[in-house]
Amino acid sequence: MGKTAGLLAPVFIAAFIFILNTLLPGRWVTGYVTRLNSNDKLRYHLNGLQVFFTVILVWFLLGYFNVVPFEWLYIYRWYCLSGACLSGIIFSLAVVMQYPPVSNSFVSDLFFGRIENLQFRGGLADAKMWLYLTGATMLELNALSFTAHHLMRYGNQTSAGIILSTTLLTYFLIDYLIFEEVHLYTYDLFAERVGFKLGWGCMVFYPYFYSVFLWSTVDLPDPHTPSWLLCLYILIFFCGWILSRGANLQKYFFKKDPGGPFLSIVPESISDGNNSLLVNGFWGISRHINYSGEILMASGIILCTGYPTLIGPWLYPLYYVVLLFARQRDDDKRCTLKYGELWKVYKKRVPYRIIPFIY
Ligand code: NDP
Repeated sequence: MGKTAGLLAPVFIAAFIFILNTLLPGRWVTGYVTRLNSNDKLRYHLNGLQVFFTVILVWFLLGYFNVVPFEWLYIYRWYCLSGACLSGIIFSLAVVMQYPPVSNSFVSDLFFGRIENLQFRGGLADAKMWLYLTGATMLELNALSFTAHHLMRYGNQTSAGIILSTTLLTYFLIDYLIFEEVHLYTYDLFAERVGFKLGWGCMVFYPYFYSVFLWSTVDLPDPHTPSWLLCLYILIFFCGWILSRGANLQKYFFKKDPGGPFLSIVPESISDGNNSLLVNGFWGISRHINYSGEILMASGIILCTGYPTLIGPWLYPLYYVVLLFARQRDDDKRCTLKYGELWKVYKKRVPYRIIPFIY
């Protein structure tokens, strides 16, 4: 019974998130991406934070009233992972097969997707935003259940580092949802299509791989990391957050109002008459300082678990290195095509790709 429920849980939770996404009140915002063959920008109904907290509240109430143990998602984690894998594949196939090919290869179409933007009822739900919300909420549920398991197993010998790493991950997810609108201005929204990479990625990889540091450490005893070291890890996380959130917000405000200051940084830009690019503030340090920030945040989170010599927790920031270094190259190609000579000028002006003075 529990095993079948474990297999089905990811589908039910994803469906529940979809229902909440469409039913709960939200803000209607105009995005950055335009409709196909039109200059009209897509509209989005954003209520990620409300959906996230509603699901967490349901998880808490089920645990509190002994309906579903707090650690249930940990106990049945392999079944949930299998169910998520299967539903991620079915979802990707179902979406991709509805639309005409965009390449000569079905495998490529399946992986990258065919449709750029898939909306339900004029944006009441948007496939990409729902997928990211599902990934974020499911990741939080996993983190809470895994931490609950650690607490139940170790009682008063609980590791402060596990609590701290889950708290930082929660902060990271809530921060994403607070700034959900900023996400509309990112690569995921304007350059990705809805296929296996995004569908399976959000339904499986995001919730089950991003928690790899907890999979690797919740069954281990408290490593008694000194407080000063935990403070250092928190500092690493927040340095990363400043770089990532700061850069993303600076660009977001620039796209909305190219002359308006952000955190009293007056934007300095270069222009070819048609397009303009920021060259100061976060965007003057490196061309993707936000990627450095993301890697630092992940490193801060996993270091808190207190097992810096284990390989498992490091898989999370290492994955970011692989993903973001490759994405920088793709984005560079896209920007070279879009901005032409202006991009060359920007590259001369801001020579470092991701890590200032190193890369
Ligand atoms: P960016 O936010 O860096 O977006 C790149 C785009 O920004 C470019 O294609 C270009 O698009 C525009 N741009 C680039 N340089 C400038 C400039 N100087 N001035 C103005 N516009 C510029 O990258 P992503 O969208 O990839 O990432 C967004 C955030 O999401 C990052 O913080 C990243 O770390 C994070 N992220 C998180 C992941 C996770 O799993 N947690 C995964 C991937 C990313 P345009 O055509 O609009 O001008």
